[in-house]
Amino acid sequence: MFRCFYSLAALVFCYTMLPAQTTLFLPRNLQKAYDNGTRSWDGNPGPKYWQNRAQYTITAKLDPATRRLSGEETIKYFNNSPDTLNRLRIKLQHDRYRKGAQRAYDVTASDVSDEGMAIEMLEFNGQPVDEKNRRRNTTFLDIGLKDDPIPPGSTVELRVKWSYTLPAGEDAARECVCDSTTFFVPYWYPQVAVYDDLSGWASHPYTGLQEFYHEFADYDVRISLPPGFQVWATGEWQNAADFLENTYLERWNAAHRAADVVSVFSEAELKSGAVYKKGPARAFHYKAADVPDFAFATSDHYNWDAISTVVDDKTGRRTFISAVYNTASTDYREVARIAADGIRLMSTYLPGYPFPYPCMTVFNGNDGMEYPMMCNDASTAPRSPMTLTVHEISHTYFPFMMGINEQDYAWMDEGWASFFDYTLSDSLSGHTLGRVRSYSPIAGTDNDVPPMVRSRNLSTAYRNASYQRPQNAYLTLLDLLGYESFHRCMTGYMDRWKSKHPMPFDFFNTWNEISGQNLDWFWRPWFFEWGYPDLGVQGPVRDEAANCQVLLIVRKGNIPVPVHVEVEYTDGSKEIFHQTAAVWKDGKQQFRISCARGKQVKTATLGLNTIPDVDRSDNRYPEQP
Ligand SMILES: [Zn+2]
Repeated sequence: MFRCFYSLAALVFCYTMLPAQTTLFLPRNLQKAYDNGTRSWDGNPGPKYWQNRAQYTITAKLDPATRRLSGEETIKYFNNSPDTLNRLRIKLQHDRYRKGAQRAYDVTASDVSDEGMAIEMLEFNGQPVDEKNRRRNTTFLDIGLKDDPIPPGSTVELRVKWSYTLPAGEDAARECVCDSTTFFVPYWYPQVAVYDDLSGWASHPYTGLQEFYHEFADYDVRISLPPGFQVWATGEWQNAADFLENTYLERWNAAHRAADVVSVFSEAELKSGAVYKKGPARAFHYKAADVPDFAFATSDHYNWDAISTVVDDKTGRRTFISAVYNTASTDYREVARIAADGIRLMSTYLPGYPFPYPCMTVFNGNDGMEYPMMCNDASTAPRSPMTLTVHEISHTYFPFMMGINEQDYAWMDEGWASFFDYTLSDSLSGHTLGRVRSYSPIAGTDNDVPPMVRSRNLSTAYRNASYQRPQNAYLTLLDLLGYESFHRCMTGYMDRWKSKHPMPFDFFNTWNEISGQNLDWFWRPWFFEWGYPDLGVQGPVRDEAANCQVLLIVRKGNIPVPVHVEVEYTDGSKEIFHQTAAVWKDGKQQFRISCARGKQVKTATLGLNTIPDVDRSDNRYPEQP
């Protein structure tokens, strides 16, 4: 009961006021989650919270020469919902390349096919699924189950055999045919869609823009390639000892405990043929538990660096970290070290929550794109790879460990990854790298849409609403709460919603409750309203009684930001005044700063480059000509 911390009387009053439990605008369709008890007003999952789940067993084969990827899989699907499901919705994300599919971006014409993903066999609970019970629509395959619905609390099994050709065009965002023998493969297997307490079956297709909303699952995956190829993937490699000759197996094992970067193999070693044991063809076997997706990558000539770091000081648990790259990508020699330092900092500082996964591989692809335990990151040479590496790895927390619905609320994950890429790169680089995203130029324009507008409804406004504006909001929040309270809210939020699907009000309400403050005054302008941040400085004027000069900070925009003023006096001394955005909490339009007694202000400078402000021309005394 977060808003009722003033008195017991108010507390009782609030309880009797159910269910109008937030002062923020709550869309009518979200109210039912509170009525049904699947979400709680204090921000916790409700007593009746439920979530469906899947288990995948996949065997796949990639032929580099033709780029044909084919697979057979079994999906065990657990219906934990109270609903009887009369259809099962499967995502075929490659169908973005099917002729006539909806797309947010152009794709290369030669990557488009009539069939999209070829479904060669489809069985539901051991029975073939009749054509009339299949519906291909956008990137979904719906299986009609009117005659054989899935009751609450039951488990069903789907078997599917499929194949498609990996898109090779440069427009194949996030997927990479990096060269004729190097591939990064996401969005590749038939995957069950999310069925949740808010909307039922997820209904937004994969168009190439909004990224994830996946169900948590366990994966057991075997991937075959011709001899000489290595496979890196989500999860832990189960059969390294079957593949690697002793020298390389020892290096791989050593890297799991190493605090310095170890070369598992170089390009030359891989090409020499000495890395792998001779023998019959084998499949790379990977397992991952409780992740919302699975990606893999392969090459026959990349270098593999590895290292590990302690991610939980209480248990000594380590994460195994790999950087896998083309020899020409000179920046990549730093990536394993940066990734290890970044993961250590994520575990201990921000978010300050032990890194949840046993491994992380940064693969030299064509993008900056995250998957559970895998990143597809282009080379940034000659620039440092630090910000990109930290950004993509930090996505581990949002949207993966916290199963964010990015199709509707991308600010709940991209905003955080942007917050981490700035704060952690700034810290790791000794304040030489890391940059707050430029929000001021777009703030208050008609393309600066309140982040609470669902991401699926955005196109050109998507980026600012998902990255810039929330990053600036979270930095303002850190300043507002201070590290300790911020960290308590963050880790409390993570404990409550780990491996679940939090939505915006779970976030707002949890932070309100754990901070012990009703922060609705902060959430409302930053996430729900049109507007912009703009402060100005006026004065100085003399306060005779206090024998000092007074500066007036004027709030000209509705978005609350901190007040930071650097004053230089005529005697050469300087003073810094800093107030968090809380000074604007009660709707005040002005804030008074009393300068040092008996001193004369020579100059006053309002603002910092980390504080957004759409008009800085009024941020200085005397005014700049
Ligand atoms: Zn991102």
